[in-house]
Amino acid sequence: MNWLTNYVKPKLRDLVRPKEIPDNLWHKCTKCGQMIFHRDLAKNHHVCQHCGHHMRLSVTERLELLFDDGKYTRAELPKVKQDPLKFSDRRKYKDRIKEANSKTKEEDALVVAHGKMGAQNVVIAAFNFAYMGGSMGTAVGEGLVAASKLAIVQDAALIVVPASGGARMQEGILSLMQMARTTIGVERVKEAGLPYIVVLTDPTTGGVSASFAMLGDIAIAESGAVIGFAGRRVIEQTIREQLPDDFQTAEYLYEHGMVDMVVRRHELRPTLINVLSLLRHTKPAGDLVELAHGDKPIEPEVEDNINDIPPPPDIRRPDSEPLPGTEEKDEKDEDHKAD
Ligand SMILES: [Zn+2]
Repeated sequence: MNWLTNYVKPKLRDLVRPKEIPDNLWHKCTKCGQMIFHRDLAKNHHVCQHCGHHMRLSVTERLELLFDDGKYTRAELPKVKQDPLKFSDRRKYKDRIKEANSKTKEEDALVVAHGKMGAQNVVIAAFNFAYMGGSMGTAVGEGLVAASKLAIVQDAALIVVPASGGARMQEGILSLMQMARTTIGVERVKEAGLPYIVVLTDPTTGGVSASFAMLGDIAIAESGAVIGFAGRRVIEQTIREQLPDDFQTAEYLYEHGMVDMVVRRHELRPTLINVLSLLRHTKPAGDLVELAHGDKPIEPEVEDNINDIPPPPDIRRPDSEPLPGTEEKDEKDEDHKAD
């Protein structure tokens, strides 16, 4: 009987038991509501294939997306005093930190990494929104200052990718002080003649948008990202006016001159590489040779059988009207030659 109950019965039970299906295989697009298979979503960098909506990207996926071959080295950030104000609201701040640590396996809301992008040295400081809403406390401030120092030491460009609700209120005035500290940090990078680029992602608000996030040499915003200082509801209640639907979106900010470009996630890496190479290589790679005055310009080499090549099609306006002035000028030229 033992053999039957201990061996055969569990085997049979395993055979007939319904297979457990993990509940996180399908994700619902927050904009169009379509269901997307998790592998398709990861392959598409968390951009909805139905409506193009950009969903939030985790900090590790963000770094893998930006660095060459997804390879980078994480920098160790300075340790700070946790819970300096012994703050407590409905729960103790210390407990909130512990929970965020175990949920994200990170020490705070900022990750600093260095590596290559388009074979150029870069230091990237990316926010982790999953860690207490990416809020900026003393640890984040220290991390950003460390990132700016690292960029200077490595002669690298500094790229900051905010995804933050703003300053961390549990650290009171100490978190607000980070606005000034991070501003000085990025100012040092600029003084060293190195590019400082911000990639504003969803969301960039509060004390973060009021400090280093708006100070980039080039401000790039990810398509559809919410970027602003105070929340929409607060502004509407204060000014007693209805705000437009696209208020505080990346596209709205671009139209009003607050950001330099709005880029879709797939184009983010090539755009950044392009911007970096333009900012870092201001001189041409080869030597420039000036033609002596009076020298004939070098004629391009043409093949002998040039007469066999059919003439190009008429690319002027469809009704084949000559462009204003062109015909007359040709005639005059011919007259001149005849003389
Ligand atoms: Zn969608």
